[in-house]
Amino acid sequence: MELYIHIPFCMKKCDYCDFLSAPYDLDVRRAYTKALCREIAFFGKKLAGERIETIFIGGGTPSWLETELLDAVMQTVHASFAVEKEAEISMECNPGTVSAAAFASYRRWGLNRLSIGLQSANDDELALLGRIHNFDRFLRTYENARKAGIYNINIDIMTGLPGQTPQKLYFTLQQVIGLRPEHISAYALMIEKGTPFYERYKFDAVRQHAGMATEELPDDDTAYQLTKLTEQVLKEHGFLRYEISNFAKDGLVCRHNVGYWTRVPYLGVGLGAASLLGHTRYANERDMDSYLYQCSLLSEDGSGESPVWAGVDELSRKDEVAEYMYLGLRMTDGISRVGFEQTFGQSIDTYYKETMEQLRNEGMLSLDGGRVRLTEQGMDLSNRVLAEFLLD
Ligand code: SF4
Repeated sequence: MELYIHIPFCMKKCDYCDFLSAPYDLDVRRAYTKALCREIAFFGKKLAGERIETIFIGGGTPSWLETELLDAVMQTVHASFAVEKEAEISMECNPGTVSAAAFASYRRWGLNRLSIGLQSANDDELALLGRIHNFDRFLRTYENARKAGIYNINIDIMTGLPGQTPQKLYFTLQQVIGLRPEHISAYALMIEKGTPFYERYKFDAVRQHAGMATEELPDDDTAYQLTKLTEQVLKEHGFLRYEISNFAKDGLVCRHNVGYWTRVPYLGVGLGAASLLGHTRYANERDMDSYLYQCSLLSEDGSGESPVWAGVDELSRKDEVAEYMYLGLRMTDGISRVGFEQTFGQSIDTYYKETMEQLRNEGMLSLDGGRVRLTEQGMDLSNRVLAEFLLD
């Protein structure tokens, strides 16, 4: 089983971000840590006997949480669950929020994989995104992490930024590759409602999607070129694409995320966190006061009544089949026909024969060697192709 821990704090909101995070003050950070520890202890009792294979501490900016508070969270995890000796324990980190001493402390509770949000090596692009760091600060963070003995590092970069040219992206790629990380995630900028970017670029985003000339965002052709440039340069330097936006060296994929895409059960704790347990998806409370109140009903050792979930979604067989497909097909390995049959007791053709034939004829899907995979073209148009696997 996998464990996700949400830390919803950021020093400052980036201008494009709609994740559940905010710059709460220290009192809230302390109260949240206490609440989170109670929730973790509660589930440790409820799910006794489950072994944790991967832990992902995400956010927000977990590295902005005071080191002693994060220590308390992780001590509770280790006291409440049987964490596998070889567990992958990852954390997201924002450059400029973490000292060398903090890395040493993280290592004590088992951190063995770090994901650093660089986004761009160009300081003007970082300023435009509203990030708190510049490239120099990122370099110091990266160096400190390596010095602390973290040998598995992901660097996040972004494509499709306003004004981004292939030359600027190439510069970022060169800088990142030169550092020899084990993993690179390359995400295309999304213009999300409710963000300052939405107000600035909403009309440009519409123009981009309609294939029209844009003002500041790269037009459709340039956005495509930027994605292709990323894939090509990373491939040339030995980063194997294993998922739509993720590239790894030497098989060092993110085990936690592969678990999501293969529907391994996971428990999510913290504000707004989601879980997949058995045939049900659960969603935690997204309002901070309500979350703190609910956890306050638990005692410190986690005894008490189950928290009230903000969302409970019982999955039908069709829901599970569709999830299996659209999550599994995100990976370049796709899914195996045998695996599908073992999971659902029926052939994949029962559900998708016509859909698969049609997508293969369009050049979006490959059906060779007992596997179903997106082709390169299918990956390029993954949103549209994956939607074909939803079932009524
Ligand atoms: S650091 Fe990450 S989570 Fe926080 S505001 Fe920026 S993009 Fe969002």
